Amino acid sequence: MIQNPVPCRLLCSTCLATFPAEVMKTVGTGGWLESDLCYQSHGTFPYPYLVAVCPCCHWGAYIRDFDKLAYLPRYGDSEISRALRVHLHEQRILYPGSRKYQLTAVSYSRAGAPPAGVGDLHLRGVWCARQEKNTEAEQAHLEAAVQWFERAVAQHLSGFEQARLHYLLGELNRRLERYEEAVRWFDGLGPGPAWLESWSKQMCTLARERDAAIQIL
Ligand SMILES: [Zn+2]
Repeated sequence: MIQNPVPCRLLCSTCLATFPAEVMKTVGTGGWLESDLCYQSHGTFPYPYLVAVCPCCHWGAYIRDFDKLAYLPRYGDSEISRALRVHLHEQRILYPGSRKYQLTAVSYSRAGAPPAGVGDLHLRGVWCARQEKNTEAEQAHLEAAVQWFERAVAQHLSGFEQARLHYLLGELNRRLERYEEAVRWFDGLGPGPAWLESWSKQMCTLARERDAAIQIL
């Protein structure tokens, strides 16, 4: 099981370029949840490495949706190893997690992915932008996630998914300081697991108090 990002050569499904990217497959264990359901742990913040963006055409996707070519070998201190490290460092700066999730959301929405799936990409974009302390990107992802999740709940999803999206719509509106909308979504949660109903009540109280701060659950 991979716990740290590792370099891998990926094949772009759109332009067929191959490119090196850092990838992770799991989010780790033993952490905690923030109130917008972001899982955090003491290890590497995993979300930027669960998607990759083709540097040639900007097509983005979850690592699992790439035709993966191969993990790159360890080159030691060779010239190629140094060049790879420099390239991956540049890519981290050019494409921080918030940007990768923005491009990936565009790719999936163009491909006709379900609205909840596109909303989840923007939600992960919110988590990355918060980690990057990029307020502007966080705001943009929050607004996009709300729009896509609103479309998703209009489609009447199954019980847990409907409750999860109601909770998230409450929480994301609270983070956007749209307190009345937040209360309306929390109040309309409907039947869900006890833990989600309990968190919804707590976050609804904060929305009524006009408190937009992220919470640790
Ligand atoms: Zn491409």
